[in-house]
Amino acid sequence: RMREALKNRSPDDLRSPVCVVMGHVDTGKTKLLDKIRRTNVQEGEAGGITQQIGATYFPMDNLRNITERLNKDLSIDVKLPGLLVIDTPGHESFANLRHRGSSSANVAVLVVDIMHGLEQQTIESIKMLRAKRVPFVCAINKVDRCYGWQPLPGAPIRESLAQQPENVFSEFETRTQQVITQLMEQGLNAKLYYENKRFKQVVSLVPTSAHTGEGIPDLLMVLLTLTQRLMVEQLMFSPIMEATVLDVKKIEGVGTTVDVLLMNGKLRRGDTIVVAGMNGPIVTQIRALLTPQPAKEMRVKGEFVHHEELRAAMGVKIAAQNLEDAIAGTSMFLLTDDDDEDELKDAVMADVADIMGNVSVT
Ligand code: GDP
Repeated sequence: RMREALKNRSPDDLRSPVCVVMGHVDTGKTKLLDKIRRTNVQEGEAGGITQQIGATYFPMDNLRNITERLNKDLSIDVKLPGLLVIDTPGHESFANLRHRGSSSANVAVLVVDIMHGLEQQTIESIKMLRAKRVPFVCAINKVDRCYGWQPLPGAPIRESLAQQPENVFSEFETRTQQVITQLMEQGLNAKLYYENKRFKQVVSLVPTSAHTGEGIPDLLMVLLTLTQRLMVEQLMFSPIMEATVLDVKKIEGVGTTVDVLLMNGKLRRGDTIVVAGMNGPIVTQIRALLTPQPAKEMRVKGEFVHHEELRAAMGVKIAAQNLEDAIAGTSMFLLTDDDDEDELKDAVMADVADIMGNVSVT
């Protein structure tokens, strides 16, 4: 069945890549995500940017607009629908997810504070991304903290750098060079993205400011380039459902729900799922498949849109019985007639052992 399903995958039927944002605490991961969302919305390009459960979806058209603004000619025509960016870098359950999440992710943004360079969690993130072979770009954030920085809000970074006084540019260069040297000490070659012609072998650095929005067009463009060029094979839609539990939440009027990242395949209302629980595996039926209301209606409290079926990749809230002690950061499986229930139960619990073994690392 697996072989059959994989054979039917096609480069004309792709899912969105999943992007995680990683890095040391206080480097600006949350701010950067906020700014990316707001910049796009403010500039009237909201065009389909949707807030999902635990993630934000950027349609490719939106990303293309930004690319155009940078005057970069991307001739490769790949049918990636968009980019799904996981929202929760600072979240508690992300301690687990950083391990699971990095393997769920297709691409990552590693955020480094230009004033601090590589820090402990930066190095841990690098090790994880390399171990899972997740390609990543490195945002050198907080460039506006270079002394005397002249902000050019929302500008592509080279325009901004071009108008900095010489001493500011010189501080930027020195600090960036330090990051490059530190990455080299970790065994990584890195270059500023606009000097990087070997993006498969060399990590692209994108200077950014989450405060002024400078470099954000560049960051999105580099992500787009990376996913379009490297990921077609990996992103062909597969009917085999793959999902990770992001969070477990009690919702008034709905009961306990799990927020999951649906990475591949489909989920339907009524499907039987297997998730890990504190007291052993949980086998339960999907009672409701939920997504948030579209942005303009978000203020209506507790309102979700119900679906009969949802397709990867996306963030989904699932309501079902017996989810009270579900564990975030583990895989979720579908139980179909073809599956061995005990095998799936063992698989979800093996994930828990994996997480517990890893937690001490962070
Ligand atoms: P996280 O822990 O990585 O999610 O970091 P936050 O997004 O919470 O940011 C940590 C602190 O750094 C906050 O006080 C932010 O306002 C500040 N910060 C984040 N990005 C920037 C930036 O680009 N420039 C400056 N000057 N401060 C920033």
